[in-house]
Amino acid sequence: MNASTAAQAADIVAALLFVFSLAGLSQHHTARAGVAYGVAGMALALVATVVVAGRSVSGESIALIAVAGAIGGAIGLWQARRVEMTQMPELIAVLHSLVGLAAVLIGWNSYLEVEAQHPGSTELAGSLLRIHHAEVFIGIFIGAVTFTGSVIAFLKLSARIKSRPLTLPGKNLLNVSALCAFVTLTVWFTVSPNLALMIAVTVLALVLGWHLVASIGGGDMPVVVSMLNSYSGWAAAAAGFLLDNNLLIVTGALVGSSGAYLSYIMCRAMNRSFLSVIAGGFGVEAAPSGEQEQGEHQEISAEDAASALAGATQVIITPGYGMAVAQAQHPVAELTRRLRERGVTVRFGVHPVAGRLPGHMNVLLAEARVPYDVVLEMDEINDDFADTSVVLVIGANDTVNPSAMDDPASPIAGMPVLRVWEAEHVVVFKRSMASGYAGVQNPLFFRENSSMLFGDAKQSVEAILRELAASDPGPAAGSGRRPAEQPAPA
Ligand code: NDP
Repeated sequence: MNASTAAQAADIVAALLFVFSLAGLSQHHTARAGVAYGVAGMALALVATVVVAGRSVSGESIALIAVAGAIGGAIGLWQARRVEMTQMPELIAVLHSLVGLAAVLIGWNSYLEVEAQHPGSTELAGSLLRIHHAEVFIGIFIGAVTFTGSVIAFLKLSARIKSRPLTLPGKNLLNVSALCAFVTLTVWFTVSPNLALMIAVTVLALVLGWHLVASIGGGDMPVVVSMLNSYSGWAAAAAGFLLDNNLLIVTGALVGSSGAYLSYIMCRAMNRSFLSVIAGGFGVEAAPSGEQEQGEHQEISAEDAASALAGATQVIITPGYGMAVAQAQHPVAELTRRLRERGVTVRFGVHPVAGRLPGHMNVLLAEARVPYDVVLEMDEINDDFADTSVVLVIGANDTVNPSAMDDPASPIAGMPVLRVWEAEHVVVFKRSMASGYAGVQNPLFFRENSSMLFGDAKQSVEAILRELAASDPGPAAGSGRRPAEQPAPA
């Protein structure tokens, strides 16, 4: 077997490993194996690519590839080690932007390389050259849209710019016109390629990417993240065509189609139309948060929250982004265990877009070893709130906002939410009356059966644990098991 055949075989094995990786990542208990398959596939792909490259380039170039790989790997390792879980969506947006930028650079490089060989000619290689030019144009277009779209997503997710949707007059017309212009330019370029058209398509796509994502409101960012994931896959596939790299085409298509499917799932979960999100958002102008008079809110102390929990029979915990920020999952898991020991039924209600990543809450709860069988999806638990004594809203806001159901003018109108307000008593853990990610005030906080427990969620849950330990009924009345780390009551 020669080096080229071995590399082709390695490509096939790597592509299969990527498929296994995606399959593994779709379940909690196989996720680790999924990551391992992905790492193995990527390592194999890198070796195979360098082996194939080694046949046509000098040893010096191979050394340069190794140095670039080492620098890139070191930066990746450093970033992965220091990034907080709450910053993952921003990091992912940055990574998507790099894929987009790479596709643009590969497109430009490929054009300039062919131009250098056959300056200004469309005759030399006939239709093959035309196909190449179309590939260059499409690759640059998808890459540039992905690049600026991801940069805007990064700025919104990291709160460097406001998450409110940009609503230019006739925004849909602008998007459609940009697409028509792209088709026209592509046809023109395949017939008569020139530098001016290359610059025009790059600028057009950069502006379109910025506008598409800027037009989408904060509450709909989950779909944007998965949509950009899909775009970055298609950008990589386009680069694969230009580089004549089959594995990159296959991998790009896998990422592109799985991202598109995830976007579709997220759209369904949020009751949004897939097409309207792809077409640059449907952000409705809403009254700015905090401007409507909501009335008075009530506060509760950790001590009173602990007594409410001690007297409850059914408790549901609905975690949100604030639980991730506070890293409150471990005390929350401990609280669950303590209450269950006291005979209280405790379950979790997880909204599909709670947190800042698909599955964010499930990952945190799994990390804290909350049993899977008490963690339920929104649809599984929404009808049970009415029979629940106490709901603990731990750092969730948009995902428990009744205005999504009651206020058609709200930017999150129509998004299904956890109907926590139907319970007897709702305790909301947060630090202030600030709005959630979508920038919409939450009428839940002002309902008669809601009480605010202000402070960092981790500290508040720990305070409740201390109160519960102090009022522990002891061996005669309860299980009597006192966790070792809790001081015995005086
Ligand atoms: P939200 O982002 O709506 O609200 C989080 C709340 O947590 C805030 O109101 C904040 O209030 C509170 N909080 C922050 N830090 C702490 C802390 N240390 N202790 C206690 N509370 C804290 O959360 P949800 O999970 O309900 O909703 C997720 C939002 O993010 C949705 O709008 C969703 O569309 C969007 N999104 C989701 C993505 C996904 O893939 N899941 C991706 C991108 C966006 P305060 O500051 O007063 O403490």
